[in-house]
Amino acid sequence: MLKAQPSDEPPTAPVPASSPSSCVAALQLRHGADVRVSARPPAADEACVVVDPVEVVALAVGGDRDRRRVLLQPPAILSCEMASVVAQWVETTVHPLAKGHFGRDLVALRVGGGHECRRRNRGAGGPMSEHAKGRALDVFGFEIGEAPDRLSVSVRSGDQPNFLAAIRQSACGAFATTLGPGSDAAHADHLHVDIKARNSPTGRFCQ
Ligand SMILES: [Zn+2]
Repeated sequence: MLKAQPSDEPPTAPVPASSPSSCVAALQLRHGADVRVSARPPAADEACVVVDPVEVVALAVGGDRDRRRVLLQPPAILSCEMASVVAQWVETTVHPLAKGHFGRDLVALRVGGGHECRRRNRGAGGPMSEHAKGRALDVFGFEIGEAPDRLSVSVRSGDQPNFLAAIRQSACGAFATTLGPGSDAAHADHLHVDIKARNSPTGRFCQ
């Protein structure tokens, strides 16, 4: 048993990364070492503690023969549980959809707002965002194919509507919540996905 150590650290200091949990070990085994154990982000607020945080720099996807890296730009801090859902979605759906629609590999997801200690829609009151616990991710676009033939598909532009519609539909299956353009003004330029716990385990909010 580990004894609690007295500490002079201020309460907001990051907790040093320790040995990986079984979740992180499984994630790294499947998706590579660019899923890194993260120091726990400082959380002044109890509502903003990220359980088992990882920094996802890139996800290795595919089988032995066609293994490749998909970058998250910029890298995102997520709870390991959320990172696992994102990784599975990218591997089983986003990458194959990119291949199917464009005949090219998915290179990167342009993302934002992994862990952020804030309330929903950046409001001053109201419920905490799932971002506060690293259980949400905002996806702004997809980089497909290598330069000079790189295709950049942005969620805001609505270009490639068939591809974006398929992505969004798949996200509704993979995540508890999916919001995007048309949901409300706060989501006009990105897909918000999260793993918010709902009353029913199969409950989904897809808009
Ligand atoms: Zn969001």
